Amino acid sequence: MFIGFAELQQMALRSADVTMPCTCHGAALWAWQPLPYTLELDQFDELGSLVEDPYAIPSVAEYHPNGTRYDSDDAPIAPRYFPCNLSQVVRCVKCGRHYLRYNEAGGYFSELRMRALRPQLLVDAAL
Ligand SMILES: [Zn+2]
Repeated sequence: MFIGFAELQQMALRSADVTMPCTCHGAALWAWQPLPYTLELDQFDELGSLVEDPYAIPSVAEYHPNGTRYDSDDAPIAPRYFPCNLSQVVRCVKCGRHYLRYNEAGGYFSELRMRALRPQLLVDAAL
């Protein structure tokens, strides 16, 4: 199921309201990171995806108008840009916080990476 910007924003706002401690929050996934060993895959429910068209070749452009980088904590979350445009939206079953997750595939490896969905970083930027 495709998740549009308005829905994503609601999820991010709900996430920001969660105050209970949780292993997912303790992992501090502010920037894209490999799924930490402290977190189990089954701790997260998949809610939908930011892939708008599964048949289109996703853009590899990143969105950094303010000089952030891929691994910056404060890099914008722009759903049409890499790697958000490959991501699933997942929710922690223990605390309800939301995350983005995608499979980073290189020549010789693939690894799941996750990032916290934070409302203050969301940008509805066109490609
Ligand atoms: Zn959690």
